[in-house]
Amino acid sequence: MVKAIVGANWGDEGKGKITDSLAENSDIIIRFQGGANAGHTIINNYGKFALHTLPSGVFYDHTTCIIGNGVALNIPILVKEIEEIVSQGVPKPRILVSERAQIVMPYHILFDQYEEERLGGKSFGSTKSGIAPFYSDKYAKIGFQVSELFSGEEALKEKIERVLVQKNVLLDHLYHKPQIDADELYQTLVEYRDMIEPYVCNVSLYLDQALKEGKEILLEGQLGTLKDPDHGIYPMVTSSSTLASYGAIGAGIPPYAIEKIITVVKAYSSAVGAGAFVSEIFGDEAQELRVRGGDGGEFGATTGRPRRMGWFDCVASKYGCRLQGTTDVAFTVVDVLGYLDEIPVCVGYEIDGEVTTEFPVTWQLEKAKPVLKTLPGWKCDIRGIRNYEDLPENCRNYIEFIEEQIGYPITIVSNGPGRDEVIYRGFEK
Ligand code: GDP
Repeated sequence: MVKAIVGANWGDEGKGKITDSLAENSDIIIRFQGGANAGHTIINNYGKFALHTLPSGVFYDHTTCIIGNGVALNIPILVKEIEEIVSQGVPKPRILVSERAQIVMPYHILFDQYEEERLGGKSFGSTKSGIAPFYSDKYAKIGFQVSELFSGEEALKEKIERVLVQKNVLLDHLYHKPQIDADELYQTLVEYRDMIEPYVCNVSLYLDQALKEGKEILLEGQLGTLKDPDHGIYPMVTSSSTLASYGAIGAGIPPYAIEKIITVVKAYSSAVGAGAFVSEIFGDEAQELRVRGGDGGEFGATTGRPRRMGWFDCVASKYGCRLQGTTDVAFTVVDVLGYLDEIPVCVGYEIDGEVTTEFPVTWQLEKAKPVLKTLPGWKCDIRGIRNYEDLPENCRNYIEFIEEQIGYPITIVSNGPGRDEVIYRGFEK
């Protein structure tokens, strides 16, 4: 069976932790989109890790971890991440990389920086990992597939020359930066080829066989619905689809193979980058939640930058779950809210004097004001609790109120960052 683990919100919902927990009973874990621009923080018996490219299943020796064709593959970062976890005592993971994955080129990272510089105050808040230039090139059909590294010197050099014609014009005339040297780029790609060779695989064929053998497969999403380029807060979105349905494309499996979609929803809101954020809070109130949030505060796993904070948003989360095609909700970081006397929740958006519970398009979203309802807090530490019934009544009321508002069953509750800090509520593992 294939299960997808995806986010309903702006990312950083705790997908890595849920993937790490469920990987115990899985054979294969696949990253199917995104790149090294976001990170998952995982805490387990080996220590604390920030993964950017590796799937969160790398900590078990029975798993195979796959970089699917939909990923923006930064080869040096992948290799470095493998070395880092091994140096921290994790057994060398079994990794396969799709021969159809495309490569983040050194110039994608440069173009990302140059474009942010050019846009100045109007930038999109990119992490400058080269993701937007990478996907632009992929769809402009001037990207490099991993397979092309093995296509021979002549073919590779010919393609480099062709692509650099465009790149160097932009560098000269738009960004006023140094040109890219074709020979240097060729040498870099030869190094990339040697680094990636041990992992390259015909992934869709491998997965076809795995499905026939009845293997347990997890698809691990990056970011969340609201950052999806089609269904998110365009243009303040990421460049690849964050939806479970894209898992079929980004891994090369049939769409109907995905039987469970576990949408990770965080008990409060956080976001990075620019864009409308209706339930956002500011000042001391935000700082207190930020510092207490997640494991050791809500600061980016890749960039270290402070995340924007807000109350739980039922409108955005209901929409986020719907677009994912949710079968199960994993409700995370509930423990963090234990300090509050009362917990505001955004239950509607007021736009031009009318209240709606349906998530609008971006220009309307920018006008939305939150309609808040306040629920009583539970004022205690709930970490360590393993049975749903043992949670304080107000905590259960909070969870059940949100379940009703979003309209999807919360079958997993996460009450701590650790692998085992999970309460299953009718979830079939
Ligand atoms: P991801 O990108 O969706 O995997 O999320 P991140 O790793 O960026 O952010 C989630 C943060 O919350 C990490 O620091 C996790 O260790 C932490 N976390 C996950 N689940 C829980 C939880 O239930 N409680 C607490 N306190 N922290 C959690």
